[in-house]
Amino acid sequence: MFTIKGKTKEWEVVVGLETHIEVLSNSKIFSGASANYNPTIAPNTQACMVDVAMPGMLPVLNKHCVEQAIKFGLGINAEISKHSRFARKQYFYPDLPQGYQISQPAEEPPVVGRGWVEIIGDDGNPKKILIERAHMEQDAAKNKHDMHPNKSFVDYNRCGVMLLEIVTFLDTKNPENNSYISSPEEAEKYLRQIREIARALGVSKANMEEGSMRADVNVSVRPVGSKTFGTRTETKNMVSFKFIKNHIENEARRQIEILENGGTVSQDTLRYNQSDGSSSVMRSKEDALDYRYFPDPDLLELEITDEDIERIRKTMPELPSATRARYINEYGLSEYDANRLTETVDVSHWYDAAVDGKKERAKPVANWLISELFAHPENMDIENKITENPDPDAPRIITPANIAELVDMIASNEINGKQAKEIFIKMLDGERGTIHEIADKYGMKQITDTGAIESAVDEVIKNNPSQVEQYKSGKVGLLGFFVGNVMKATHGQANPAMVSELLKQKLS
Ligand code: ADP
Ligand code: MG
Repeated sequence: MFTIKGKTKEWEVVVGLETHIEVLSNSKIFSGASANYNPTIAPNTQACMVDVAMPGMLPVLNKHCVEQAIKFGLGINAEISKHSRFARKQYFYPDLPQGYQISQPAEEPPVVGRGWVEIIGDDGNPKKILIERAHMEQDAAKNKHDMHPNKSFVDYNRCGVMLLEIVTFLDTKNPENNSYISSPEEAEKYLRQIREIARALGVSKANMEEGSMRADVNVSVRPVGSKTFGTRTETKNMVSFKFIKNHIENEARRQIEILENGGTVSQDTLRYNQSDGSSSVMRSKEDALDYRYFPDPDLLELEITDEDIERIRKTMPELPSATRARYINEYGLSEYDANRLTETVDVSHWYDAAVDGKKERAKPVANWLISELFAHPENMDIENKITENPDPDAPRIITPANIAELVDMIASNEINGKQAKEIFIKMLDGERGTIHEIADKYGMKQITDTGAIESAVDEVIKNNPSQVEQYKSGKVGLLGFFVGNVMKATHGQANPAMVSELLKQKLS
């Protein structure tokens, strides 16, 4: 268990994360304006009358957005609510032209209920992190304060893009249930898990640097063994794993010092200062009452049927955690290989396409990918967009079918490993054609004809009488010398296993 030693006792850290991911969809959650928000698009070109809250404009819920939420909910093993509602969270700020954010606050049933994700906990064992809910809401616009010395501007392009907020669960009624995040490292692992699921399902790019994933970080401490939770602070809008980990540790130490000096932690909302890792109080904790929540009268209750859920479940791809388990259990890959091959869904699709369900290919294809092809991404076209670029000077794209052909030819003794490597290097140099075509063109055929190999072996034995003498008197390490000479005599084309077998027979 991760603990921090104070002056008088050991402390445990308790973390709750409210993670926002920007959901991928063509249009916004309640309007038809493009949701393709990105900083290169000219300001205010992707906001419609609904987004800027012109009088009389009405929101219409985007069905695709709801499906994205359901998909994510299924990805985190959650209950999907058959009935959920939207409510208005009232506050005034220039980036929120409606004067309220449409959300599914804690008082309303969210579209996604109780769920969990699994991480490897600090003790090295799998640990479930419980999730309380995931709900749909609108993103706000973006205020711009750096364009003019004494004016501020607002870009409404992001206004109304759908966010999914995923909230971890703390079982306050049962504080010994430790299925929550309890260290900086576990926080990072949890966030990576959320990101991986969101990306694999195509629900969000979940990219912290680009702002499509951000987290509010709640931290409290309690003495090890305590049966209640401490008072927490909440730090808004954190956008880097490094800052989040740093903040959790700093904030826990700050709270411990207060408590050990007889003080109390105040339930504040904080802002993290990137420059020195400190945090400062933004406001004391707001109450739900301050927001005057009420169900949005412009929107109907959201009804989801079992058929909807089943239809969506059928469209879901295998999640990376399941893919990893399949690679390890069915294909016998190492954990390292399985992790490398599931870093992105595109890589695992590439790998699966090359293996094509043939178990005997699983290991050699993994080896070619990880130790050779990953070093040459320009030859890989991992997203499978182009199969061949007609420009002869363009890098040659090595496809899953090429690697499959290569490993099959080695397995069937048509070429040996050394020749395969040569063919591979030729492809990196731009050589076009199938593996068979390249092998033919350069006369790379493996000699598996016993007669041909035997005469080369006899020749080598005849020409090296002193080495034969030494071998027979016990210097068996010389076998490599003989194999090398036979390979040389056959221009590298003999099957090395057959050569070595024959040599052993003849020399014994
Ligand atoms: P709010 O919406 O008011 O911020 P919630 O009750 O929804 O509050 O909790 C937000 C997050 O804070 C959740 O992830 C929850 O698990 C976490 N949290 C609640 N109490 C604590 C605590 N004592 N220590 C750490 N995290 C907490
Ligand atoms: Mg909160």
